[in-house]
Amino acid sequence: MADQSSGKTIRFKAEIAQLLDILVHSLYKERDIFLRELVSNAADALTRMQFEMLTNQDVLDADTELAIKIELKEEGDQKVLIVKDSGVGMTRDELIQNLGTIAQSGAREFIQRLEKDEANPADIIGRFGVGFYSAFMVADEIRVISRSYRKRAKAAAWVSQGGESFQIEEANKEDRGTEIHLRLKNEAQEFSDDYALRQIVKKYSDYVGYPIYVAGEIANQQLPLWKKRPAEVEDEEYKQFYQQHTMDFEEPLATIHFASDAPLHVRALLFIPAKREKSVLNLRKEPGVELFSHNVLIQEYCQDLLPRWLDFIYGIVESEDLPLNVSRESIQNTRVMRQLAKSIRKRVLRELRQMADDGSEQYAEFWQQYQRPLKEGLTVEPEDKDEMLPLFRFYSSRSEGALTSLDAYIANMPNDQEDIYYVLGEDKQTVAFSPHLDPFKARQIEVLYWVDPIDPFISPVLTEYKGKKFRNVDDAGVDIPGDDSSPNDVEQEDLIGEADFNLLIGRFVTTLGDRVLEVRQSAILKDSAVRLVSPADSPDRDMQRLYKYLEQEYQVPKKILEVNRQHGLIANLAQLINENPGDEIINLTIEQLYESALVIEGLHPNPVLMMPRIQAILELAVESEIGSHATENS
Ligand code: ADP
Ligand code: MG
Repeated sequence: MADQSSGKTIRFKAEIAQLLDILVHSLYKERDIFLRELVSNAADALTRMQFEMLTNQDVLDADTELAIKIELKEEGDQKVLIVKDSGVGMTRDELIQNLGTIAQSGAREFIQRLEKDEANPADIIGRFGVGFYSAFMVADEIRVISRSYRKRAKAAAWVSQGGESFQIEEANKEDRGTEIHLRLKNEAQEFSDDYALRQIVKKYSDYVGYPIYVAGEIANQQLPLWKKRPAEVEDEEYKQFYQQHTMDFEEPLATIHFASDAPLHVRALLFIPAKREKSVLNLRKEPGVELFSHNVLIQEYCQDLLPRWLDFIYGIVESEDLPLNVSRESIQNTRVMRQLAKSIRKRVLRELRQMADDGSEQYAEFWQQYQRPLKEGLTVEPEDKDEMLPLFRFYSSRSEGALTSLDAYIANMPNDQEDIYYVLGEDKQTVAFSPHLDPFKARQIEVLYWVDPIDPFISPVLTEYKGKKFRNVDDAGVDIPGDDSSPNDVEQEDLIGEADFNLLIGRFVTTLGDRVLEVRQSAILKDSAVRLVSPADSPDRDMQRLYKYLEQEYQVPKKILEVNRQHGLIANLAQLINENPGDEIINLTIEQLYESALVIEGLHPNPVLMMPRIQAILELAVESEIGSHATENS
């Protein structure tokens, strides 16, 4: 068959040779996955053929059935397993390129992974783009004979014993496609059995969309998973399908499978990946779903079915109502496509809302992973906000560490509360100490914590929800409903006289200079000594937060400092200013109060810089204690 004289020996790329060394000498469990890998390559080649033929009929064997055939044969006392397909085939150059000489980062990563955690290679090899080589787990020689669909191309063979190199030879093959001949190792004889092969096909490749013949009989159901009735599919099947199609190591966070026949034929199997961040090995290189019609992949990355802010959803959508014979560009604008998009979007949103309303851990995880695209979506496509906002979740001053929804917030509002209140800050622990919360705590009014770095971006867009306005509690002009007189709270008398208080305010102003816009008495603070507020309705108040987050030139924004005249510390400070204005602890205290307020706001550029001052204050405090004891004792 092969003409040895024209043969050529070519070295494998180093990482492939290393991979082969591991596989050839291995005796791993689950070696049967080699068949899954070969079948999956064959199916890929068939799909590419089918796709080619949508626009080009001038191919070799245009009428041949698209199928995979698995056969056994004996050569002397050797058993040979053959996997054959009528797919696109490979030319001599493609054989050289695809099987051994292309740089393969996947091989390197696969080997590293084996070294790291002793994973069973059979389990994971398919995920590294080197599935073909897994056949060396069961074969001591592999011969690939292939003929491209291009009419002028000649057949060629690739042969290797799994060492450092492979040979390329001429070959006789009349029909289109690829044959993989595996000379089975002595210790892999269990694969020379039709029954066993059929079982393996069922196990791994049942839904492959082409007939797989084992010894002449079809062994797979062929019904792609997304075409099955959802009730008939096991969770494990979804998981396997997802992992094989994405090479994601993790299970999907959620699976959405539905079918409908009217008004439109739709089959959809969609997945929300567990993580937003994709590994480099993920097969999905772009966002979008795979769009099929009549078993043909029309578009590999279709982004016209779901809004941009849901583009992390991967899956397969098939509709027989889509026309096959139009270009991708024109399909986009068809009425069917718009209907399809509407139906998919509606269904996905329904599932998400359902998951959200269940208040499940799954949804908390979803929100953790995907709040960013949703929030970004809100700024880019604010017209979709009625669909998005019911999905939003926040921590709040009353949610006890759990996430709450805007609907739940509204349901808990007292009758006289008109607005939705939120506080911006760095994280939920810090913001819980925010002085802005004083009056809200006193009145038991819930305040949402906006502590994600991109929350300041949404505040300009998020103006109202269900007729309720959003209000930042650091707004100097915010009104707070109800009163704060709790039963044991008698009208407080001012601790500081007017003159002393004015003196104190003056001292704050001279000490802080133009770092603040104004210093004034607070009408609402209870437990906190001071707070920083933004002038009423200042639209650009959060610009600096954005710069800080984006690591651009950040300047501490100028705010109004409100002082709590009722606070013990402030009263004592006023007294000290009156009695001993030169005491050095006065300025230190004012500076520290201001900077602590910045920390609470999440606006301090570098809190560590406060340390020397805190140290100085501690020293003075301890020293004055000694002083006072000395006076007591004398
Ligand atoms: P992957 O399938 O992830 O690309 P493999 O190691 O399984 O990696 O296959 C390597 C390449 O060899 C494929 O990408 C394809 O180009 C080629 N190939 C393998 N099997 C076939 C086949 N049956 N028909 C055509 N090309 C194939
Ligand atoms: Mg493969």
